[in-house]
Amino acid sequence: MDIFTKCREYTRAKEAQAAGLYPYFIPLTDSEGTEVTVGDHKLIMIGSNNYLGLTTHPKVRQAAIDATNRYGTSCTGSRFLNGTLELHLELERRLAKFVGTEKALVFSTGYQTNVGTITSIVGRGDFVITDKEDHASIVDGCMMSLGEMRRFNHNDMEHLDRVLDQLPDDAGKLVVVDGVFSMGGDIAPLPEIVAVCKKHGARLMVDDAHAVGVLAGGRGTAAHFGLTDQVDLTMGTFSKSFASLGGFIAGAEEVIHFIQHTSRPLIFSASMPPAAAAAVLAALDVMESEPERCERVLEIGDRMRAGFRELGYNVGNSQTPIVPVIIGADLPTMLIWKALYDAGVYTNPVVSPAVQPSESLLRTSYMATHTDEQLDRVLSTFDEVGRSIGFLE
Ligand code: PMP
Repeated sequence: MDIFTKCREYTRAKEAQAAGLYPYFIPLTDSEGTEVTVGDHKLIMIGSNNYLGLTTHPKVRQAAIDATNRYGTSCTGSRFLNGTLELHLELERRLAKFVGTEKALVFSTGYQTNVGTITSIVGRGDFVITDKEDHASIVDGCMMSLGEMRRFNHNDMEHLDRVLDQLPDDAGKLVVVDGVFSMGGDIAPLPEIVAVCKKHGARLMVDDAHAVGVLAGGRGTAAHFGLTDQVDLTMGTFSKSFASLGGFIAGAEEVIHFIQHTSRPLIFSASMPPAAAAAVLAALDVMESEPERCERVLEIGDRMRAGFRELGYNVGNSQTPIVPVIIGADLPTMLIWKALYDAGVYTNPVVSPAVQPSESLLRTSYMATHTDEQLDRVLSTFDEVGRSIGFLE
């Protein structure tokens, strides 16, 4: 049996391309934040995680250019060996202070941060317990760890309690949740989660990829609930509000020290390039000096939820600038995606197998730099398209 047989038999993407309903790997010709072009087709971008609109901020851009001029384009080695610059350490000090923990450690991507933290902390005989809507990088970290994985229903505290209750008292336990869920845009109920973890002697890790830069002046979910000292590990990415690439894990000094010396994705992969690290530092400066950006993007989330509901769309339990428009079946989701795209609105369709077909949705997400006029255009386009496809009455 040729191991490539499965590749020849993989037709799903080609069928979608032939039907003109293929939304993946679309090459952007230009991207200036809220507006992008594909060839000469102009679109309002509501599919990006650039929540504060900092990818084009003059200070962030200049910091990346200056770092490239000073250090070159790459560190050509892992943090563990030759790939640590003073810049990485400065970034770690700033991040620890920003989220209110003793120490932080930066990785080259957010994905590696989750995999690298979970595989380092969850060893043989330990348990890692996740929400069923946690991000794929958490799931992958759990599967790669030597411990056992258990899952609880999304935000269901009674289920979490029952799952923890069934585990041996003396086993190590790490509960991992998204602070803001990446598809639903809802916030994890941290006060309840902290209480259940304490009851069972479990440690808590929060993936704040979509919360840093957005909630509590950018400080994230724990700060949003006033629980900064109750979360054991806070994870964040730089690929969203921080307008760069990379990730960090923050927590107690001894825990971060252990991860730093045992995490394979940190030790066996090259470090963040200088431009990426410098861009995050500049983004942090802007976050601290322009807090109105966080307020604006949250207001936009409120405004869009209200607008979609008024048109007759279902936006689920969203509470943040991630606003899913739930269509509830794969084909209409793709048809609406395509009609919006043709009309100049860029969204991300999420269909099975990523979600159950009954939960198919268009993921929309906003930037502090979207103008009111752009947002009105988005809503009127959703109105026209929803009616012409026959989805809205
Ligand atoms: N965690 C969550 C919740 C995410 O949404 C993502 C990215 N979409 C990641 C982790 C991985 O981050 P990165 O893209 O920076 O590797």
